[in-house]
Amino acid sequence: MKLAAPEQKVPEVSKVRQILVVEDEQPIREMVAYALRRAGFEVSEAGTSQEAKVKLADQRPDLMLVDWMLPDMSGLELTRQVKRDPQTRDVPIIMLTARAAEGDKVAGLDGGADDYMTKPFSPRELLSRINAVLRRSVVAEGGDTLQQAGLTMDRASHRVRGDNREVSLGPTEYRMLEFFMQNPERVYSRSQLLDRIWGGNVYIEERTIDVHIRRLRKALEEVRMDHLIQTVRGSGYRFSAREQGG
Ligand code: CA
Repeated sequence: MKLAAPEQKVPEVSKVRQILVVEDEQPIREMVAYALRRAGFEVSEAGTSQEAKVKLADQRPDLMLVDWMLPDMSGLELTRQVKRDPQTRDVPIIMLTARAAEGDKVAGLDGGADDYMTKPFSPRELLSRINAVLRRSVVAEGGDTLQQAGLTMDRASHRVRGDNREVSLGPTEYRMLEFFMQNPERVYSRSQLLDRIWGGNVYIEERTIDVHIRRLRKALEEVRMDHLIQTVRGSGYRFSAREQGG
């Protein structure tokens, strides 16, 4: 009963795109968040610019949706600040607004927004704009090499290097590392890792994850990088270059 179906097609491990939605009107924020989650994105939400800045300090999203009219600082000013900060300036921003005036659109784009949407919009329209902006930023991220925390993964040749040496990995450990390097600084539970790396409908015990984590750490130990795979007590695992705190 713990065997994978023989015809099981192994899914591509991929980066989970995270979107930060900054919008003070709760019904709109929830509608947008719902549509994005259904489309497979991870969503975090902020109701004010201040809240958005707190979230940004914690996790770098792949894209931000920013409403123009926010109660504290305007979405335009927030966009300017995000685009001025070297830590966040590469995060694409789509501005949302009720204003339809051409001048506002120009101001939004001048402020650094990558695209602009006028309310009301349909979830489908929003998704297609998001995907277009993300496609542009993926191209900018550059091809088939992943680099994180001193590790380099060449996805064409399936080679991983660290400390000027090649890391020798089994296929599952390779996929696991690929997933982690695409999604650094985020905690994943065992069941999320099973879903994302093996695919949802494979019957594997969650403890299997621990075995592969051990193997992956052992391989990384050879290049003194096993500290990158961190156990988060009670939650799961994380790939992080930062010192592990309590
Ligand atoms: Ca608003």
